Amino acid sequence: MKIIMLGAPGAGKGTQAKMISDKYNIPHISTGDIFRANIKEGTELGKKAKTYMDAGALVPDELVVDLVVDRVAKDDCANGYVLDGFPRTIPQAKALDEALAKNGVKIDFAIDVEVPDENIINRMSGRRACVECGATYHIKYAPTKVENVCDRCGNELILRDDDKPETVKKRLDVYHEQTQPLIDYYNEAGILAEVDGTKDMMDVFGDITELLK
Ligand code: AMP
Repeated sequence: MKIIMLGAPGAGKGTQAKMISDKYNIPHISTGDIFRANIKEGTELGKKAKTYMDAGALVPDELVVDLVVDRVAKDDCANGYVLDGFPRTIPQAKALDEALAKNGVKIDFAIDVEVPDENIINRMSGRRACVECGATYHIKYAPTKVENVCDRCGNELILRDDDKPETVKKRLDVYHEQTQPLIDYYNEAGILAEVDGTKDMMDVFGDITELLK
């Protein structure tokens, strides 16, 4: 099963993607995580990506398309995958479709997790990420057992630069302008599925698993 997660930054698509990945035993491929790992390792790609990410802008298509096309060609993707944060522009979606078509494959579902902007701004300001392993929490909706300490690895939590309110507003503008057109794109392709992302996390997941049946 090849799945794309759509939705604004902070809509919860990463959380849902992780749960889909665990349930269906397919890799969770998050371009944001790939960039953050590169930033942490100090790679050239990381250095280039960081300037865009910190400004709430998208990393240029040419830095992301090959990365994903190569990743989905790996053996562990033979039974499918869930893409989280890619594609984010129409050119990225077209490039992915073309690369897949060469091997006669197609995306099965594009799942749009819908959440209004005002809920997003509320959610993002409470989001915290581990400096070490990148795990994400929410001070109200998904708190850690010990305040400001990662449940997974015990390191400190921070408000990511790209989750700061001014950056979130910019990211939402970018989302509406560049990523939202993908909803029509996948609707026209007949693979769009929409879920109400304002519901409780497990209810959203229940709706998604129903759709995937
Ligand atoms: P995310 O964790 O998916 O919200 O991604 C964090 C940031 O990484 C985004 O705000 C972009 O700057 C960058 N990014 C992630 N995926 C993409 C993509 N497919 N195209 C362009 N930029 C991306």
